[in-house]
Amino acid sequence: MGFNEQHLLGIEPLAPAAISEILDLSEQYVDQNLRENKSSDKLAGLTQINMFFENSTRTQASFELAGKRLGADVMNMSMQASSIKKGETLIDTALTLNAMHPDLLVVRHPHSGAVDLLAQKVNCSVLNAGDGRHEHPTQALLDALTIRRAKGRLHRLSIAICGDVAHSRVARSNILLLGKMENRVKLIGPPTLIPSDFAEFGCEIYDDMDAGLGDVDVVMMLRLQRERMDGGFIPSEREYYHRYGLDGRKLKNAKADAIVMHPGPMNRGVEIDGDIADDINRSVIQDQVEMGVAVRMAAMDLLARNRRAKDQNEGLRL
Ligand code: ASP
Repeated sequence: MGFNEQHLLGIEPLAPAAISEILDLSEQYVDQNLRENKSSDKLAGLTQINMFFENSTRTQASFELAGKRLGADVMNMSMQASSIKKGETLIDTALTLNAMHPDLLVVRHPHSGAVDLLAQKVNCSVLNAGDGRHEHPTQALLDALTIRRAKGRLHRLSIAICGDVAHSRVARSNILLLGKMENRVKLIGPPTLIPSDFAEFGCEIYDDMDAGLGDVDVVMMLRLQRERMDGGFIPSEREYYHRYGLDGRKLKNAKADAIVMHPGPMNRGVEIDGDIADDINRSVIQDQVEMGVAVRMAAMDLLARNRRAKDQNEGLRL
């Protein structure tokens, strides 16, 4: 069973074979993106609308580039300026856009579950570009591709996810994906930022960086998500950096060839030391950005194929 979904709303419903199919196709797009001529016509004639109700730098740019390189007509809705500000609901906005017959809707929203809800109201494919603290599936897929390329495999690795797990959709999607692919996942952070129910996902939980980082292959750092905190989760940024910020000394606990990841945007000197982030022998942070475009191309290509197959089947049944 490969990837035969109509939407990409989260990692949760995906089987390992579906994840592998997306990653395998992404490899082709990594190559295409290195050519002088980066364009192809896989999505020619299709319309992609990007609706970002929350700020984004990497993800929005990456989806836009991905659609353009596949030949789609791409429109970025400026949600700051849209009728949402005048009180229109998410669903009304979605229905209005739906009437313009888009083929792909890429949506980021501050509320968990909002993108799923929207997918039920429209008749095109919806891609979740991050909903609240719930899921960010293309981020987990691009992280998986980065890990697979750096380590030569995506199973039986020991992976530490460190920092503000509680507020992170990136952590949630990665925990789901890495667990499905049979990796050992360790969550490291202060107890205030690691919900204890994450143990149910089969993760090990540590509140000490030195202990948690012992012998890991991958160190994934998370941003301290102040915008989702409504109180004091940490004593101070200085204290947080001292205990949980990734620096050269703490990194020594990991395997000598361990890679360092961060989804961005980074707070240098808060969750990660700037020199580690820039160390080309350890950090794969720029590779993550590069893989992001390829993964999004693969996901949109597959969704368009699935939609065509569905339309054909329904045509046959009529
Ligand atoms: N860019 C990622 C997200 O949208 C991570 C972050 O914001 O910290 O979730």
